[in-house]
Amino acid sequence: RAVPEQALETVKSVCPFCGVGCQTEVSVADGRIVRVDGANGPANENRLCVKGRFGYDYAMSPRRLTKPLIRRDDAPKSAQVDFDGNPMEVFREATWDEAMERAAHGLTTVRDTNGGGAIAGFGSAKGSNEEAYLFQKLIRAGFGTNNVDHCTRLCHASSVSALLEGVGSGAVSAPFMDAHKADCVIVIGARPTVNHPVAATYFKRAAKRGTKFVICDPRGQDMMTHAEHSLRFMPGTDVALLNAMLHVIVAEKLYDQQYIQAHVGEFEALKAKVADFSPEAMADVCGIDADTIREVARLYATSERSMIFWGMGISQHVHGTDNSRCLIALALITGHIGREGTGLHPLRGQNNVQGASDAGLIPMSYPDYAPVTGDARETFEDAWGRPLDPEKGLTVVEVVDAIHEGGIRGMYVMGENPAMSDPDQTHARAAFAKLDHLVVQDIFLTETAWYADVILPASAHAEKQGTFTNTNRQVQMGRPAMALPGDARQDLKIIIDLGRRCGIDWSYDGPAEVFAEMASLMPSLDGITWHMVEREGSVTYPLKGDSQEWVIFKGGFPTPDGRGKLVPVDLLPPDEVPDTDFPMVLTTGRLLEHWHTGAMTRTSSVLDRLEPEAIAAMNLRQIERMGLTPGQTIAIETRRGKITATLRADREVADDMVFVPFCYREAAANILTNPQLDPYGKIPEFKFCAARVSAAGAV
Ligand code: SF4
Repeated sequence: RAVPEQALETVKSVCPFCGVGCQTEVSVADGRIVRVDGANGPANENRLCVKGRFGYDYAMSPRRLTKPLIRRDDAPKSAQVDFDGNPMEVFREATWDEAMERAAHGLTTVRDTNGGGAIAGFGSAKGSNEEAYLFQKLIRAGFGTNNVDHCTRLCHASSVSALLEGVGSGAVSAPFMDAHKADCVIVIGARPTVNHPVAATYFKRAAKRGTKFVICDPRGQDMMTHAEHSLRFMPGTDVALLNAMLHVIVAEKLYDQQYIQAHVGEFEALKAKVADFSPEAMADVCGIDADTIREVARLYATSERSMIFWGMGISQHVHGTDNSRCLIALALITGHIGREGTGLHPLRGQNNVQGASDAGLIPMSYPDYAPVTGDARETFEDAWGRPLDPEKGLTVVEVVDAIHEGGIRGMYVMGENPAMSDPDQTHARAAFAKLDHLVVQDIFLTETAWYADVILPASAHAEKQGTFTNTNRQVQMGRPAMALPGDARQDLKIIIDLGRRCGIDWSYDGPAEVFAEMASLMPSLDGITWHMVEREGSVTYPLKGDSQEWVIFKGGFPTPDGRGKLVPVDLLPPDEVPDTDFPMVLTTGRLLEHWHTGAMTRTSSVLDRLEPEAIAAMNLRQIERMGLTPGQTIAIETRRGKITATLRADREVADDMVFVPFCYREAAANILTNPQLDPYGKIPEFKFCAARVSAAGAV
């Protein structure tokens, strides 16, 4: 409806969706958001994509949870939940006091009966830094376990494990806005126009100004029209392509000898390994001809400044860490890191996945990636006043397996939807149904919440204040624009209350006090205060004096010996390759209009109207070859299950491949996906498994 400008109040905040971290100006009338515009933030300069501009109304949906809910005594848990059923036949409304008592009692009973290791917590990359920090503190200090994780395990965990090993830091080395300062940019395994749309506008502008782009993706994509080279390599052969590029750089001595001598270790081992990966030997493996591999390797190495951006096409493989190790090796041996217009940048997925990881929402490290198995334990025991578990905790998929084996019996899930996002969903849902006690804190009755014993109605992004860290290491202030609906509560308040009821003696006035505690324990936040972020709107870490370090690693690396480490890798196949029974490759991902499991964007009227229907996409050649017709319902089947969806013709999808977005509950892609993990990052292989496709009913 039209609202006169003078009746609008505006609030400056940040977008709740992707890791780009666009700043927003949220217009409010009568307590409701009526418009969102782009504000002049450092990562968007007034731009927004369709999600940021039109996706805001999810927060005002009548489907919001407004009362605490408790599972009825006569509603047993079952793996076969009727998601379209009446939730009030399963749950009943409760007071906050009753719900919190039930939640705390269930979790402490599991802890006191089976030990803290029988509890696991999944926090959220959509929550603020302060929420992520307190959540992991509650699990670690309140339950004495490191079984705490979040969706980074499903997106960039393998990138982070390679980065920590290679350059000593899991964060990006330079911001995406610097693409125009580079002479050459490689984008691999990322689809920025779909998944990081505002970052893509910076890439297109850089291409117009003369930066040469190399886009590497088994699927076609819009950025290829702006590229000097488009490499549609065979899915799952990243190491073949990247090691062949490294081979060229080594064989033609295009590396930076001086930089290697000063800053890089293990060069001889890398040289020996890539000797076997000539472009001629790898051309048939990766599907890119040898001359193109040589040309691209030369372009990257001999450019004065080169950058690499990557996404989940690199990370979501059983060899995801190896893929990232190759990218790190490219940057290290050419010295394309630590200067403006150079660097390594894994494009982060969710609005606060960088911040949540920094805040310690991962099972192997405390805040700022201090290993839980090292000396840092004493520091955190002193700070938190509780004994802490000296062993690494379980990751997202490992938790599911541990539930089946009886090791995990109670869970606290805040703002995540693993019943939709975990691989091999049937196996995952059967696990959640087995838990003795499950507490879910969310804004919607998600698929995960259907398995809960207690559901706690929480705050949407537009209802709370907190800091969020985007893909560029920019800590930004999110501000409330609306009141909470019904009896819903602030997430921070719920975590604090649950902690108290579980025996932690803590009190916080609000997020500013939590941020101060984080800053006192996290060297990355040295010198950064809540008031500074509030005043500036955005502060890039680390701070050096008054200077925000947009480019890091200028004089070496935060590794034990100060040098970057090259880790040579072998070519390994995907875990499950096509065969006669399952002859196609299934790959999963996002759509521009929908975000992750769809809990937010499918509740947004505009976004859901743009992409209302569950689809699966193949190219037209493939469709015709298989005797199918675009628009018909098809069945997609893997060794783990079957779904049906509407067939869409999409020329960007490779031959013998089917793409399924993972946002549709009614055609849940993760019923199909393979839970096999990368051994280092423990990330599942969402980007590749064997599948078959047929007309629905014919399988
Ligand atoms: Fe939001 Fe990302 Fe779109 Fe920016 S690019 S408006 S942060 S979804």
